Amino acid sequence: MESLATKLDIYFKAGLPILFLHTFEETKAINVIRTVAGQRDLMEWSALGFRSDDGNVEFEEFDLLTTLNLLLADTDVLKNKILILRDAHYYFKVPEIIARLKYLAQIAGKKNFNMVVISPVMEIPKELNYFISVLYLDFLSIDEIQDLINAFCDEHNSPRLDSGFLQELAVNFKGLSEYEIKSILGIALSDDGVIDKSDLDMIFGQKQQLIQKSGILEMVPLKEGLEDIGGLESLKSWLQRKQKIFKDIRKAKQFGVGIPKGVLIAGMPGCGKSLNAKAAAKLFGVPLLRLDMGRLMGKYVGESEANMRKAIVLAEAISPCVLWIDELEKSFAGVGGEGAGNDISTRLFGTFLTWLQEKDSLAFVVATANNIVKLPPELLRKGRFDEIFYVGLPNEAERKKIFSIHIKKRRPNDLKNINVDKLVKLTKGYSGADIEGVVRDGVEEAFAKGKSCLDTEDIILAINNTHSLSEIMKDSLDAISKVYHDRKFKNASV
Ligand code: ADP
Repeated sequence: MESLATKLDIYFKAGLPILFLHTFEETKAINVIRTVAGQRDLMEWSALGFRSDDGNVEFEEFDLLTTLNLLLADTDVLKNKILILRDAHYYFKVPEIIARLKYLAQIAGKKNFNMVVISPVMEIPKELNYFISVLYLDFLSIDEIQDLINAFCDEHNSPRLDSGFLQELAVNFKGLSEYEIKSILGIALSDDGVIDKSDLDMIFGQKQQLIQKSGILEMVPLKEGLEDIGGLESLKSWLQRKQKIFKDIRKAKQFGVGIPKGVLIAGMPGCGKSLNAKAAAKLFGVPLLRLDMGRLMGKYVGESEANMRKAIVLAEAISPCVLWIDELEKSFAGVGGEGAGNDISTRLFGTFLTWLQEKDSLAFVVATANNIVKLPPELLRKGRFDEIFYVGLPNEAERKKIFSIHIKKRRPNDLKNINVDKLVKLTKGYSGADIEGVVRDGVEEAFAKGKSCLDTEDIILAINNTHSLSEIMKDSLDAISKVYHDRKFKNASV
């Protein structure tokens, strides 16, 4: 991916009037702008006042309106300049400010003048949307993070870390800013005076919070592995094959293997789709990021797409990772349809599809969907995902495994006394989640009766009190299964 400096250079040369740099790290951003600006003078306004490199204005406590009036009074001063605006988002609802910025944007081309708004808040006023291009600060590379950690240790007279741990820590910090990394190192050092493996849990927790704050991605803790999934053998062995590539991507690439893009897992609710997304991340030994499509939809023009790009950039920065897109059909259901909401979905879908098509990072996408019928056909075409799997209701052998897994989880010693085959016979049409439910209810029943262990009858009682997924959704399940069979998606089970 191109660096911020390269992009800024291209955008300045192309005469784009307003660049919106979305970041908290203002000083770093200004340094990059200064490098790219070369001989061009910078002018800068922030809530503290206005200053200009050309020496005409050293530092004046002007407000934004006064500053803009000053510049508009003699537009020749704008020639070859770059105006940096900080804290300006507070004024994006003021018509007098918007009008002046719009006018400046319109004459920018003639004066070789550009504006850069640096803001931690992604709010673009509708009136200026046409003139604005959004950019992000580069994330630190692994080498830069390692340098940062070394510099931190030196600065705090703490011994440098051994190279293995340094590398591990650096991978853990991917996707965080310099400031965030230093803060976390500060916490790690202050609790017991050393940075070591005992700090990894704290680091995970901090990173989780920081990613959460970004508002769109959520870092999901890894608990479930492949061993927690009953059945779905074909999907599991497919994932295991991808893991071999993930583990040694350099060798795989040299051999001519393509970088894994991702998988779409579609099918019945409660049958292990999410479970597979989680298990994939654990298997690959990488973080799991869940993309919250609901939160991605913003209220400002272009905000949803900007959020989508932000999520993609962050996921790539954190990569290798698994990017889990849950309930895909909800996000892209309106694609191609009419109306404002559908327009947003269509544009978002375009951004997502292009990324998926061109992606060469190790952000492995696991998309899950309950109803593929609602998904736009472009998404299902070959080459978008590496594979599309269909997850159906578990068959007898699978139900047996699912029962064993859930009984073992809650009552490990009771499994041998339970007639699982009998339970399997009684649960045709049950989903994995239904089975988990009857085991949970059975255990509760046994406890409530004051029994010392769980037996088959407790679970049968729970089964008798449960309506299975296939009973509840009979008609729609038949229709959905037919679509999967007709489209010949790979069955996750065999
Ligand atoms: P969905 O397909 O709707 O994403 P989940 O993967 O979230 O369903 O499944 C819900 C719960 O049901 C899981 O947390 C798990 O406890 C249980 N479950 C579903 N399928 C299986 C399975 N194949 N093996 C073991 N447990 C399962």
